Amino acid sequence: MSQPFRVAFIGLGHMGSHMCRHVCAARHQVSAFDSDPDALARAVASGARGAASTADCARDAEILVTSLPGPPQVDEVLVGADGAIAALAPGSLVIDMSTSSLEVGRKVLAAARRRRVEFLDAPVAGQTIRAEAGTLAIYAGGTQAAFARALPVLETMGDPEEIFHLGPSGSGYAVKLLLNLTWFVHAVAAAEALTVGVKAGVDLEALHTALVHSPANSGFLERDVRMVLDHGDYDEGFAMKLVTKDLGLAVDLARDVGVPVELASLVEQIHRRARAAYGDEAGEISAIRLYEDLAGIQLRARPDA
Ligand code: NAD
Repeated sequence: MSQPFRVAFIGLGHMGSHMCRHVCAARHQVSAFDSDPDALARAVASGARGAASTADCARDAEILVTSLPGPPQVDEVLVGADGAIAALAPGSLVIDMSTSSLEVGRKVLAAARRRRVEFLDAPVAGQTIRAEAGTLAIYAGGTQAAFARALPVLETMGDPEEIFHLGPSGSGYAVKLLLNLTWFVHAVAAAEALTVGVKAGVDLEALHTALVHSPANSGFLERDVRMVLDHGDYDEGFAMKLVTKDLGLAVDLARDVGVPVELASLVEQIHRRARAAYGDEAGEISAIRLYEDLAGIQLRARPDA
């Protein structure tokens, strides 16, 4: 193991609770904070010191990690009144692992520079299952020095083969937004193809196998849709309110750089419709349910699933 660091961890939800537990298990000295007392209690049970506030959590840290819902919370926690950056000592490092915006990232970077604090954006992929296993994919943006310094802590949470330094500050956020956008486009494409095929009388497994072995295959079709087909599981580990947040941020990014994205905008609206139908906390692939309900079928490999 590398030398132990004093690590502050803020945001202990579906992802952060597991990520914080892995940092504790690697024998770093961890202080943790979450505005939800139950989430904080779970981190304390994993070995972290429970902090009383954002500033209390950050005060003595060499490295601060955040895993927050999105840009408003990242802004509030890092640069808001009583925010963490003001409490950190010069020379410390902030790693934001939330899926957030480049705009708030620029604001955080400016505030960090004023305090002589380093900043790395390092959002993640892999759903709660890989957060739990400590094998997340991590997409980092920032200086080489910040990345090298963060790596021992990132490696406690991620698969070393899938921790990517993608370029300057903001690159990690951009790549994460674009990979989520692509995945949620694939989800709608799979939902449409499977629903139409079944309504046309094709056996679901035969259709799925043919698509997987065709040029139309995708990771979503081959692996992720099986959660629905095999278990009727729409993955509540990632809530629809965060899905629509991410898709909105991807469309915003395209607008900011002047690229028209008709497909992304349409797909965002389909997922917004699923959120309206099934609720903020519904599972991330609830868009499939929309198609199932419209067609009056369930896409299930086994009828009892
Ligand atoms: P979550 O809502 O379960 O957890 C967020 C945590 O932040 C909550 O415990 C909440 O209480 C806490 N929080 C919110 N505002 C706070 C504040 N001001 N101060 C302190 N704590 C605060 O979300 P999650 O599913 O764990 O996702 C976290 C981030 O990771 C999001 O940006 C999400 O888009 C991203 N992400 C999630 C998944 C997934 O499968 N869940 C996968 C990849 C990326």
